[in-house]
Amino acid sequence: MDQQASLLDKLFATGLLVETGVQGLYGRSGVFEDVIARFDALVSRLGAFQKAEVLRFPPAMPRAWFERSGYLKSFPNLAGTVHAFCGNDQDHAALLECVAAGDDWTGGQKATDIVLTPAACYPLYPVIARRGALPEGGVTFDLQSYCFRREPSSEPTRQQLFRMREYVRSGTPEQVQAFREEWMDLGQKLIAMVGLPFTVDVANDPFFGRAGRMMKMTQREQALKFELLVPVNSEENPTACLSFNYHQDHFGKTWGIETADGAVAHTACVGFGLERVALALFRHHGLDVTEWPAPVREALWGTE
Ligand code: ATP
Ligand code: ZN
Repeated sequence: MDQQASLLDKLFATGLLVETGVQGLYGRSGVFEDVIARFDALVSRLGAFQKAEVLRFPPAMPRAWFERSGYLKSFPNLAGTVHAFCGNDQDHAALLECVAAGDDWTGGQKATDIVLTPAACYPLYPVIARRGALPEGGVTFDLQSYCFRREPSSEPTRQQLFRMREYVRSGTPEQVQAFREEWMDLGQKLIAMVGLPFTVDVANDPFFGRAGRMMKMTQREQALKFELLVPVNSEENPTACLSFNYHQDHFGKTWGIETADGAVAHTACVGFGLERVALALFRHHGLDVTEWPAPVREALWGTE
């Protein structure tokens, strides 16, 4: 615990992260952002051979897509919805009175048609489906988004708004499984290039509640999720910095994505937790980037 608190405190003290008073909601310094941008660029260099189609969404998605995605079945506790004031002058006056009196003013806020993106790939699947059957070779996308998860924590590695870089593959089961295998390998190369210790292990998503227990077990039994873990907060509980997910036909069925042969498409994604990787780098190489080991600096900044 002490070590956790002290890493976050050190990050605040050096200004790498900026405290807001809300757990998991932090500002980032220019240096912190530069590390993220450099790592992101390194991912792009490593993944360039895929000729993935780049798409960027704002950190929110249509509520209708969110509802259909099934997220609420599995992770109702993590979701964040956007609410807004929809009243008239009278409602406005009442709102201001509430705020002035320190009372709860949020009761009048109404759900909008927007929710916060929980994982970078969520807005992608309906877009793939809308384009019609996949080409013979399947498709590969390059995504990056701020993601929201309602999981306040004192660990700097568990934030409520953080960035996820992803590659997503959709196609036949063979195409998609080959992609995941390849990235499990490349992901380890990538993390070794930046000088971090790691392990790879089978994992599960934090499915909610009693029904979720079964889903966690099934996911592990079928080895649908692997994580690349780096010790950041402690050696005993290393942090998942990359994840390699095989969704089978889950999103293909949900959204009606078809392969060139008319079969239900399979999907897989590799996710890079950009803040987590940056934090792991600061934890292992020190808070002063100019002092980082030469090979790490070279991997990130080149020989400038
Ligand atoms: P965890 O098991 O630690 O909650 P997860 O399995 O839910 O993570 P994924 O859904 O696989 O994570 O998300 C992809 C990547 O996004 C993770 O490997 C991680 O690096 C990053 N990530 C997930 N949740 C957070 C968070 N709360 N703060 C920062 N990064 C996160
Ligand atoms: Zn994904």
